[in-house]
Amino acid sequence: MKTKIAVANGDGIGPEIMQAVLRIFEANHVPLEYEFVEMGKSYFDAGHSTGMTAKAKETIENLGLLFKGPMETPKGKGVKSINVTARKVWNTYANQRDFRSLNGVETVFSKAGIPINLTIIRENIEDTYGGIEHLLTYDVAVGRRIITRPGSAQVIRYAFEMARRKGYTKLACAHKANIMKLTDGLFLETFQEIAKEYPDIQSSDIIVDDLCMKLVTQPQNFQAIVLTNLQGDIVSDLCAGLVGGLGFAPSANIGDNISIFEAVHGTAPDITGKGIANPTALLLSGILMLRYMGFTENAAAIENALLYTLEHGTHTGDFGDKSTAAVNTNGFADAIIANLGKAPSKDFVISQPNQEIKATAKHLDKNKLTVTKGIKEEMVGVDVFVEAGDLQPAELAELAKKRLTDNFEVVMISNRGTQVWPTGSIYTELVNEYRVRFEKKPGTVVTQKELLHIAAAFSEDAKICSVEFLMKFGDKIGYTLAQGQ
Ligand code: NAD
Repeated sequence: MKTKIAVANGDGIGPEIMQAVLRIFEANHVPLEYEFVEMGKSYFDAGHSTGMTAKAKETIENLGLLFKGPMETPKGKGVKSINVTARKVWNTYANQRDFRSLNGVETVFSKAGIPINLTIIRENIEDTYGGIEHLLTYDVAVGRRIITRPGSAQVIRYAFEMARRKGYTKLACAHKANIMKLTDGLFLETFQEIAKEYPDIQSSDIIVDDLCMKLVTQPQNFQAIVLTNLQGDIVSDLCAGLVGGLGFAPSANIGDNISIFEAVHGTAPDITGKGIANPTALLLSGILMLRYMGFTENAAAIENALLYTLEHGTHTGDFGDKSTAAVNTNGFADAIIANLGKAPSKDFVISQPNQEIKATAKHLDKNKLTVTKGIKEEMVGVDVFVEAGDLQPAELAELAKKRLTDNFEVVMISNRGTQVWPTGSIYTELVNEYRVRFEKKPGTVVTQKELLHIAAAFSEDAKICSVEFLMKFGDKIGYTLAQGQ
């Protein structure tokens, strides 16, 4: 009985490495059947704005599992990345990337005898990857960084479960909550809450810049790290570098209903069509997928053959001993097929059973919506972002005060987040956007309509670029102070 999955060959070297990997699967009698779907650059070119046909979308949603080659998104046409769209639309909220020293892939750490075996879990949907950006004035661009409680909880819970399955004893949350107190702060707070449910896993947190320094000096001290999307993106490429480069970096995009398995690297246009690409990262991603589907015996057999092949010095041109001849993509796949049934040296053998869970795709008939209810909310004020024009802060303050009603006061004006009124420094340089903060007076109650009314009245004196409400949720203040406030 074979299980059917969707396969997208991808662009550039995609078809070459996919064919190599599927040949290895076939040689190991992996019980899979493939439905090839139409996705990638040529489908953008043919006018599909999402880069895939309606049939491809339907197939992937029905089968719940996509094994994909790298894909190119046309540049400068205003279309969104197909890779990011696929992850976001299907809510593959956890991006798991496993990094391990491989015998035969020489790195500074392997030379020093320091073994690396760590997993990065990157939040995959939120953060700046919403791509919600605006030019507020010709000089000022802003992007929205969206971090949510349910989105953070999903990926953090996945990270703890993964740590348990892999037999890890510790999980770290990396963040920048010292600076981004509300966004990274929410991610960290959610981590600390969920950690209480996993007393068997030692949880800790680390500031992301400190993490980078420690990863390059003592990577052996880490087992699993969970991060927000952008920080996770950067840190996972750093980790790829620790174990030999992107050619050895597999990736699983895990969701509750649909999961996508792909290599971390791109389409490698510089070597496309030459037949020399390294299929290892896609193969490792396929191995992750087999484990996820419960085909742990196939996964272990193929991984052992790959490790044996690497250990015996077989290599494509992008890595390995330059004094021995490189093989091409097909030659590398042939060597792995010939080595099926063989095992690498003792410390590297992959044994049974093998950690991952079986996927259980659910079919939905409406969008899932998660809202935390029962929290007392209070409106406190409004930040009005306006064009500076030629106005100095004190001049703008006078205009703002003109628009006040009895319940309100102007509490501060900032420029690029630094307070410039009522106090500030003459040396703070200004750009063409101020934030003017109107707050209600203590003891008063204000409505959203009144706050909008203040902003509307103020628009007669200054050009408004955007408006953000100031909220309190229970005891929690829902906005930050300006630098220097
Ligand atoms: P890239 O990863 O394609 O290539 C970077 C370098 O690594 C190149 O020199 C390339 O030859 C080499 N390389 C990559 N994979 C290799 C492999 N398997 N074997 C041997 N060498 C390999 O990155 P790029 O050049 O920045 O991006 C090219 C395209 O890929 C862009 O259109 C980008 O948007 C896309 N991309 C797609 C994905 C994805 O589908 N998930 C990821 C990253 C980039």
